[in-house]
Amino acid sequence: MKVFVTRLRRNKYSEWQNLGSQAVQDVVERLDRSYQAFFDWCKTKAGPRKHPPKFKKYWKYNSFTLKQAGWSIDGNTIRIMGKKFRFWLHRPYNGTVKTVTVKRTPHGDYYIVLSVVEDIFLPDVHAGNAVGIDFGLKTFLTLSDGTKIESPQWLLRGLENVRRANRQLSRKAKGSGNRKRARLHYAKVHEDISNQRRDWFYKLARSLTTAYTVICLEDLNLDAMKRLWGRKVSDLGFSEFVHILEYEALLNGCEIIKIDRWFPSSKACHCCGTINDSLSLKDRSWDCPSCHAHLDRDVNAAINILNQGMLSKFGKVVI
Ligand SMILES: [Zn+2]
Repeated sequence: MKVFVTRLRRNKYSEWQNLGSQAVQDVVERLDRSYQAFFDWCKTKAGPRKHPPKFKKYWKYNSFTLKQAGWSIDGNTIRIMGKKFRFWLHRPYNGTVKTVTVKRTPHGDYYIVLSVVEDIFLPDVHAGNAVGIDFGLKTFLTLSDGTKIESPQWLLRGLENVRRANRQLSRKAKGSGNRKRARLHYAKVHEDISNQRRDWFYKLARSLTTAYTVICLEDLNLDAMKRLWGRKVSDLGFSEFVHILEYEALLNGCEIIKIDRWFPSSKACHCCGTINDSLSLKDRSWDCPSCHAHLDRDVNAAINILNQGMLSKFGKVVI
C-alpha cells in the first residue's frame, strides 16, 4: 500500500502534492475497500451485485479523510495542513477525535465530519409498550394502534421543486453558463429538501423511540419496492429513516425488531390469519373472507408486523 501512496503523490498531477499524506493514504484505502468488497462478492455472490471501482472525475471526488496527523482543532477553528478554517460546531462532543473528514456538498458548502470515540450512557431496554410499523406510499407510516403519520405537505412540495429544478436543468444546453447555474440551483434545492427531510426524520424517530420500548418493522427490500412502486420509494427515504430510527432507538433504550421481508403482512388477516391473495395494491381496505372483519390495509399490516415481531422475539403474541 505504501508504494501506491508514494506513487500517487509523485504523479504528473500537481494537486496530489498539495494533499496531505494521510489523505492520499485514505484514497488508497477507499480503493482497497471497494476492491475487497467486490472480491468478496465474487466469491460468495451473496447480496446485491457489487462492481469494481470505476474511474472518477476529479470534481466528483468530494471528500477526504485525515487520521492522526495533518490537523488540529482549537475551539471552533480547525487547522488543516497549515491553513486555518473557522467552523460552526453542530453539537458539543466529549472524547478523542479519531478521524476528520472534509466533505463538499454538490452545492459547494463544506462540512467537517468528526468521528469521535465517546462514552455515552445507553439506557437498558425495558418491557413496555410495543408497536408495529408499516411503511407505505399513501401514508408514510402506519402504527399498529391505528395512528397514521403522513409525509408533511411541505416535504411533498419540496420534492416537486426538486423535479422542477431537474427539468429546468435538462433543458439547458450542455456546457453553457445557464446549465452551470441551473446545476447549482438544482443541487441547492436538493440539499435543502434532504436537510428538511432528515430533520423531520430525527424528530419523528425520537418521538417514536421515546413513546415505545419495542418497535417492530419489516426488513425493507428496497430494490423490490422500487420495482413495484417506482422511483418514489427513494424520494421518501425509507432506508434513511430506518437508519435514523435504529440510531435513536439505541439512545432512548428502545429495541428494534426487524421481521422477515417475505412475511405476508398485508395479505394476512390479523384476526384469523387467512391469507387474502386477491388483495391488490389499490385496495385500501378489505373484508376478510373467512371471519368478515373489516380491515384497513395499513393498520392490518402494522398489527401483523407487531405480532410477527413479538412472536420471533418472545415466542408469543403479546397484545
Ligand atoms: Zn379474518
